[in-house]
Amino acid sequence: MGHPMFAYDEKATEAIFAYCRERLALDPVPLDYGGLFDIPADEVAGLITQEGRPVEEVLALFERDLAPAVVSIDAPTFLAFIPNSPTKNSLLFDMVVACSGLNGTSWLEAAGVVTAENQALDFLSRRAGLPAGAGGAFVSGGSMGNLASLTVARDVGRARHPEIEPHRVRIAISADAHASVGKALHVIGVEPFEVATTDHRFTLEALRAALAADPHPETVVAIVATAGTTNAGIVDDLEGLGTYAREHDLWFHVDGAYGGAAMLAPSHREIFAGLRHADSFVVDPHKWLFAPLDCAALIYRNPTIARTVLAQQAGYLDILHVSDDADYDWNPSDFAIHLSRRARGLPFWFSLVTYGVGAYESAIERGIELARITEEMVRARPDLEMVRPASLSIALFRRPGWSEARYNEWSLQLLRDQVAFVTPTKWEGETIGRFAFLHPDTDESTIAQVLDSLRD
Ligand SMILES: *Cc1c(COP(=O)(O)O)cnc(C)c1O
Repeated sequence: MGHPMFAYDEKATEAIFAYCRERLALDPVPLDYGGLFDIPADEVAGLITQEGRPVEEVLALFERDLAPAVVSIDAPTFLAFIPNSPTKNSLLFDMVVACSGLNGTSWLEAAGVVTAENQALDFLSRRAGLPAGAGGAFVSGGSMGNLASLTVARDVGRARHPEIEPHRVRIAISADAHASVGKALHVIGVEPFEVATTDHRFTLEALRAALAADPHPETVVAIVATAGTTNAGIVDDLEGLGTYAREHDLWFHVDGAYGGAAMLAPSHREIFAGLRHADSFVVDPHKWLFAPLDCAALIYRNPTIARTVLAQQAGYLDILHVSDDADYDWNPSDFAIHLSRRARGLPFWFSLVTYGVGAYESAIERGIELARITEEMVRARPDLEMVRPASLSIALFRRPGWSEARYNEWSLQLLRDQVAFVTPTKWEGETIGRFAFLHPDTDESTIAQVLDSLRD
């Protein structure tokens, strides 16, 4: 007899499988209450005991008291922040990853996982127009992808410019870059070279003007462009900025965590063409590529440079790097700031392989269409206004005269009524309404209902 924690338990397994089946069968997934749900503190307190408790009892408690206190980010009525809308097959395969404890750390340990993950990364890389040989790893999110990329960018910049004191190298970002970009620069001790945007878009003209006005433009060693700003879905001038970076030997990082997926939408191919200039590129499958949390694709034009900067070195790891097999040294652990990692790219890979690329293209197009439909609905309502035209799958609108408090009240009421989860945002200092669409099954009648609720 082995240790009881490692013994197979038929009843426990059945209970968990039954729960999973019930969740997976929900179509559509209901919103649930999140922070507005009253958690029964007494029921939850004191659960951890010396002897443990039966699986069925704890599962029932979880289902009754905890699970409903989470807003379902995968509901088609979740239209706040950036949602997460995993496909059924991606969720199913996440169970495969979970129940087999699949790791994806190194080629030696997990060549099968790495092969599948690399297939998915290669698909994204080719669609971005990057050359053969580009690659990287799946990391936990866009924030981690940006941090790893900018660490490499910093070190490459320092190596190319030994004449600049290391602490003086700077990285150009726009005022509309994601919060994680500024945070990454803070972590790696690099000062941002912040460039003002033109209608919230980072353009080559703005970069040139900012460099011309700066006493030390030579200290700027990298450019960060955003392919789909989180707040408004605006795609920076990838072609202009990327070409400039090429010509001036600057590292070009493209943060496409949210919007990069729209490169797969046939209607939007053109504005993503400049992705081919990227030295590093991040796109989150857990956002608009319909994979479960947590999964971001991090791709380098030249993975060898990233490995040189980021791979962890230790006597106990040397065996991962010594073999003549060309694939042998391909360890996902070497391309970001992590070592042990779950096979987090596999749910996305499995879903992409099973549904096919066409299904992704049409699902992404639908998100864009929903934003456009919202725009028409807003324009048809005399008491509402669009703040700017819909961009990618984001629509910004206002109810003139409403205060921040009024928008917050409206947002929470919609959640209480289980209509939808829609949160306000700020635009040039003003509080406004915002939809972020991802789920292709979001109902047009839900959009109408939300817009109709913007009443005094
Ligand atoms: C969401 C987002 C991020 C951060 O990604 P996480 O996966 O949440 O860490 C970075 N950049 C942009 C543009 C984003 O939309």
